[in-house]
Amino acid sequence: MEKTYKIGEKVFVLDEAKAVEAYEGKQVINGRDTMAFNLLPLKYQWAYDLYRKMKANHWEPEDIPMQKDVEQWKNQFELSESERWIIMMGIGYFSAAEGIVGDNIQHVIRELVTAPELKLVLGRHAHEENIHADSLLYMISSLGINPHECEAMFEQVETIHRKNDFVTKVSKSLRRDMDLTQASEKQEFAKNVFVFGQCMEGTQFYGLFGMILSLYRQNKFPGIGQMFRYTLRDESNHIENLRNLFRALIDENPEIWTPDFQKELTDLMIEAVELEKEFIKDCLPVNSVGLSAEEFCLYIDYIADRRLNGVGLEPLNPSATNPFPWLAEMMDVKKEQNFFEGRVTEYQKASSLGEVSDDEL
Ligand code: FE
Ligand code: MN
Repeated sequence: MEKTYKIGEKVFVLDEAKAVEAYEGKQVINGRDTMAFNLLPLKYQWAYDLYRKMKANHWEPEDIPMQKDVEQWKNQFELSESERWIIMMGIGYFSAAEGIVGDNIQHVIRELVTAPELKLVLGRHAHEENIHADSLLYMISSLGINPHECEAMFEQVETIHRKNDFVTKVSKSLRRDMDLTQASEKQEFAKNVFVFGQCMEGTQFYGLFGMILSLYRQNKFPGIGQMFRYTLRDESNHIENLRNLFRALIDENPEIWTPDFQKELTDLMIEAVELEKEFIKDCLPVNSVGLSAEEFCLYIDYIADRRLNGVGLEPLNPSATNPFPWLAEMMDVKKEQNFFEGRVTEYQKASSLGEVSDDEL
């Protein structure tokens, strides 16, 4: 069907078939390659909707007061050694991890996908990792922690190093021209999306999230806890983003979803869980008030199964239950009205706020 516009002496003829062709050319990978970045017509509606939801959740680290945290940090009687150590591990791990995720989103995943609306939401995803990395910098400078200690943590704490290695090894090999018409290369790409979304952001972030929010619940580190609540809300969107992307990739390329490949992914999750449990033991070498390494390990089993289930893989411990139901409520930040005393409401424009469910916990 053609539509003709006659403006003055000029005649423009627009052919709808061209738009249909563009729509049909949209694919997760190997789709129409265009620099025009034309979002319309949308094929992956979820990607656009998620982009808008993420944008409506925008926050900036400096909006969160750190005075109370600084007082607690400097008062040697207020905190135990192990509570301080959790904060050090949190800062040490996430300082590296947020950057690794952002870099992989930008240089691997966003590079390889072809549909513009997928690039749009991935651009926002990468930006949120920048905000998270910046929030760590803000915590470190507010508390007066030596920035060199942070670098040293991810070089020298073995369990942090191993978690980082686990993800960077699936990222490095994809930084080259890939032939995504080959099933094996498609699987490499799918593996990357799975490892980053479901194993790392979806599982390996949750040990520390739980610990830091447990402290927050006891009125320890209110500013840091607040930032982690916002980060956790963002991460739940990131997990969803990479889960939807993974599913769309498999739907469009069903030949790669072989039993062997499914086993390979499940084995990667098993490895991720093991690394996380070792890491949890380093975060909590002694049980501190209300925090036990065992409970956190159970929580990781529970979370890992939800991630596997989300991408159509069999759970590892079907009987696992959530030992921390309160965590879901912790993430539900929308309930608090004057959280930032008005300032943040400037960011919260859209009706899409408040749609975050406890689904990710
Ligand atoms: Fe993040
Ligand atoms: Mn993330």
